[in-house]
Amino acid sequence: MAPMHASADPVPLALERDRTALAEGGAAAVRVLRPRRAAPADAVRPTRAEVNLANLRHNLRVLQRAIADTTPTPPQIWGVLKADAYGHGAPAVARTLERAGIAGICVALLEEAIELREAGIRIPILVMGGYYGPRRDGLEEIVARQLLPVVYDAAHIERLATMARFEGWGRLGVHVKVDTGMGRLGAGPAELPEVLSALARFPEVRMDGLMTHLACADADDLEDTADQLARFAEMERLTRAAGHSPRVRHAANSAALLRMPTSRLDMVRPGVALFGLEPRAGVAPDLRPVMRVRSEIVALRTLEVGQRIGYGHTWEAARRSVVATVPMGYADGLSRSLSNRGSALVRGARAPIAGAVSMDLTMIDVTDLPGAQVGDEVVFLGTQEGPLGREAITAAEIAELSGTIPWEVLTSISRRVPRFYREP
Ligand SMILES: *Cc1c(COP(=O)(O)O)cnc(C)c1O
Repeated sequence: MAPMHASADPVPLALERDRTALAEGGAAAVRVLRPRRAAPADAVRPTRAEVNLANLRHNLRVLQRAIADTTPTPPQIWGVLKADAYGHGAPAVARTLERAGIAGICVALLEEAIELREAGIRIPILVMGGYYGPRRDGLEEIVARQLLPVVYDAAHIERLATMARFEGWGRLGVHVKVDTGMGRLGAGPAELPEVLSALARFPEVRMDGLMTHLACADADDLEDTADQLARFAEMERLTRAAGHSPRVRHAANSAALLRMPTSRLDMVRPGVALFGLEPRAGVAPDLRPVMRVRSEIVALRTLEVGQRIGYGHTWEAARRSVVATVPMGYADGLSRSLSNRGSALVRGARAPIAGAVSMDLTMIDVTDLPGAQVGDEVVFLGTQEGPLGREAITAAEIAELSGTIPWEVLTSISRRVPRFYREP
């Protein structure tokens, strides 16, 4: 399938006219919270996250193929790049996807959208969190940066409309979020009439999109998801009956778009699948993980039987052992719950984590890995090939061991770990 280009995008930018005045007036009053991450050039420590941009493009193509047979037309793909693109670094990820022809981007925060505009990203950006701050500068940023705001209550609409009228901004396009069962954000059935009447009263704000979010699209049973979609259809009916005509309707995250064609509607919002993780085992085996986290052995010691190591002395040598120290700890995103449970890869084989993961350092048992030495690469997430074979540690495996989900494994890799972008 041909990639979708922003130019073919039926979703208009947030504003119809008068946008230049603000842009030139430099309304940039909101200070952006930037992740002050270690820059690759400053990295002394060998610990780093490698981000494979070719795999990112591959995953976009996998998703394009997965939806290509949707009738009557395939939906647009808007990539979800919240939380610094799930820890991969939002500017580089957005640039890659923009060049690959993705239709738009979704983020959670206004700050995240501003960071992308400052990085030169020009395709539409939807700000999903619906939070623009108590002052007017948040709304000014929406207009000056040509962002698409999500709104979910009448007060939102009134505030936007009042500003738009006062500032002469023209009509503002918004996406209205409805709650069909997630119970988090969005107008529920009881609030929808109020939102619709606010839109009727304030013609400065126009509903371009109608959206909802699915709570259980990765569950065994898709019955809850079907119920949510039915509620969404009913709310769309009420919306149209009230005289509004949203041009795009969207609901699907990665799991829904892969598993339930009826959820795709006009636009889909994949996050985790773009980064190569299956939201549920088996639904998209062609995806390729984008992030690999690696370090190196910095020290080796031989332990006699009965010697104990690490905080709390939780590991004891049951035999004469060789233990390697690696400069990656829980402050880097290697969960402390992996102490004595997780593993790492050295020379293409597995080495168990020995003792407690500490803040900056972790020990691994390399007794069974002949030839392990200082300087050897150690992989905590991803694939490694070496003289002893080929092995992989997936985010799903780490999530399972540490009692969480793969999404959290990715977003936990901290700002102390520099990201290196690979274009193989
Ligand atoms: C995070 C998020 C998504 C993407 O979810 P994935 O499961 O990562 O695909 C889509 N929509 C909303 C509203 C979200 O918050």
